[in-house]
Amino acid sequence: MSTYPRINIHLATITGNTRAMVSACQEAGVSPAGVTKLACAYPQIGQAILDGGISLLADSRINNLKKLKPLHAKTLLLRLPAISEADDVVRYADISLNSESATLKALSEAALRHNTIHQVIAMHDLGDLREGAYYREETLALCREAMALPGIELVGLGTNLACYGGVEPTTENQSRLASLAQEIETEHGITLRYLSGASSAGLGLMLNNQLPDAINQLRLGASLLMGIGLNDEPVPGTRQDTFSLDTEIIEIKCKPSVPEASTALDAFGNKPEFVDRGIRRRAICAIGKQDVDPNQLTPRDSKIIIIGGSSDHLIVDIDDCDTDYRIGSTLTFDLSYSGVLQCMTSEYVNKHFI
Ligand SMILES: *Cc1c(COP(=O)(O)O)cnc(C)c1O
Repeated sequence: MSTYPRINIHLATITGNTRAMVSACQEAGVSPAGVTKLACAYPQIGQAILDGGISLLADSRINNLKKLKPLHAKTLLLRLPAISEADDVVRYADISLNSESATLKALSEAALRHNTIHQVIAMHDLGDLREGAYYREETLALCREAMALPGIELVGLGTNLACYGGVEPTTENQSRLASLAQEIETEHGITLRYLSGASSAGLGLMLNNQLPDAINQLRLGASLLMGIGLNDEPVPGTRQDTFSLDTEIIEIKCKPSVPEASTALDAFGNKPEFVDRGIRRRAICAIGKQDVDPNQLTPRDSKIIIIGGSSDHLIVDIDDCDTDYRIGSTLTFDLSYSGVLQCMTSEYVNKHFI
C-alpha cells in the first residue's frame, strides 16, 4: 500500500516532452542537454530523458550527477565547480561550466590524478549577472588559461540568462556570444564544440527561428519536466501535467475562520492574517511547510481554498466542495516549479514513478 504524501511523476510525459523538444531542436541545429535538477536527478528521470533522445544529462550538483552514474550517459555539471569537489567533478562530470582560473587549475590537477581529460565550457555573462565574467577580456583570458592547462580541454562557450537578473535570451545577446566564440576560435585555431546559449528560456527564440545558427546547445530542464519555459509559460508541443501531489486528510472539523484573540506570531515568526468567512468545514492534510510552501500548491478540486499551514500541517477549506471528503481521503494538488523541487527534495514525500 502506498503512503502519503506522495508526488506522482509521469515518466512517459517527460519522455514525450523530450522527444518533442529534440525534434524541434534538430530543425534549428541545436543538440540539447537534459537537465535533471528539478527532480533531484533520480535515475528514472535521467532514463526518461535518455529515452526521449537526449544523450547529454546535466545537473547543478555533483551529488546528483553521482546518482546518474549507473545510466552511463555523458554528463555536464551546471553549477561552477567548487575547488573542494574537484576530484568528484572530474570523476562524475565529463564537462563542467567554468569562470574561475583557480578552479580550472584544481580541475587540471584532479584530471591528471585521475588520468583523464576534463572538458570545460567557459561561461560569459551577457547581463543576467549570475555566473561568468562580464568583460570579454576576462573570458578571453580564462580561455587562454584553459588552453594552457594539462588535463583540461576547452570545448565550448556558454552563458546563462533569465535566472537571476531576468534578462531574456535575444537574437542580439546570443549573437554576442557567437562572435566572442569566433574570436576564441580564431585566436587558438580551434573549433568550439558547444555554443551553449540558454536554458528552456531560449526555446521561444529558437521556435521562432530567431536563434543565431552558431548556437548549437540549449540546456533544457523545465521544458522537458514540466513543459514550461520563459516566465513559466507553456512550451508549444509539450505537456504540463508530469507532476501532482497527493496528500491525506487527517482531520475534518467545522470551525470559525478567524482564531480567538489572535495576538501571537505563528510558528514561522510571522503575524498571521485571516479572512472571515464565518464557520467553515476545514480539513488538515498530513504535509507541511517543511515539505512544501502552501503557496506553491493548486488544488485539483477548484472549490478547495488553501488557508495555510505549519511545519507539518496543511489546512484547507473544503466547505464549498461537492465531493464528500472523509478522514483518509486524499486531496490532489498541482505544483509550481519550486513546489516540485521542494517535494522532490523532501525525504518525507514519497516518490511515485508512473
Ligand atoms: C537550471 C539550469 C538550466 C536549466 O534551466 P531550465 O529553466 O530548467 O530549462 C540551464 N542552465 C543552467 C546553468 C542552469 O543552472
